[in-house]
Amino acid sequence: MIDYHLHVIAHGDRPMTIENILTYCEVAKKRGIRQMGITEHDRYLDDIDFAAFQEAREESEDVGLRLGIEIDFVPGAEERMERDSTALPYDYVIGSVHRVQGEEVDHPEDRDIYEKMDAYDLYAAYYANVREAALCGRFDVLGHPDLIKIFRTFPDRDITPMLEETADAVAESGIVVDVNAAGLRKPVGEVYPSKKLLEMFHKRDVPIILSSDAHAPDQVGLGYETSVKLVREVGYTQVVTFKDRERGTLAL
Ligand SMILES: [Zn+2]
Ligand SMILES: [Zn+2]
Repeated sequence: MIDYHLHVIAHGDRPMTIENILTYCEVAKKRGIRQMGITEHDRYLDDIDFAAFQEAREESEDVGLRLGIEIDFVPGAEERMERDSTALPYDYVIGSVHRVQGEEVDHPEDRDIYEKMDAYDLYAAYYANVREAALCGRFDVLGHPDLIKIFRTFPDRDITPMLEETADAVAESGIVVDVNAAGLRKPVGEVYPSKKLLEMFHKRDVPIILSSDAHAPDQVGLGYETSVKLVREVGYTQVVTFKDRERGTLAL
């Protein structure tokens, strides 16, 4: 099993020391995870201690360590995204949409955007960004593809065509989708993506990774009973692995 999207520094919660990385590895080992990818938010790029990562990778015997980065996809910020996604010798790069019209959609306190915009328009703008992120060619993995459901704001109108269009763009792009268990810890209470969207991806042969999006050691592999069951039900039999931006596969 793999956990390919998680944060050690998280939101500045702890330094990236060898000890802190190995604490995450211990939890991963206990939970049957054999490959763990650290993917800090790009705004903490300067806090990534690559030497500590390398040493932890050598010391970690049972859990293979990978280094990625989670780029905050913002249309127009190509220079920043290019710089951050090539700053270190990453094994893979995740592109995640966290914003609509520049405002965060997943901030626990600041939910202005949900007041300002009609839910359908908000979803349309969100998924337009998701398609652009997938198709921009900069990323190996598309992070939590339906994050916009986080606070249980749902449009009245049917969004199936919007999801189909998004699944088409994702398939066309060749990007790998992040099946991310963090949604289970949020008000929405379900994995990103939903079963409906995941079925659309599967139908189009879109490959996946599995992740917890842990921001603390005890969250590594959290929710995997649910997400592994989900991906198996949908028909997935393998996940993608990365090393030096080359893909491999691992049977589920
Ligand atoms: Zn994210
Ligand atoms: Zn994340």
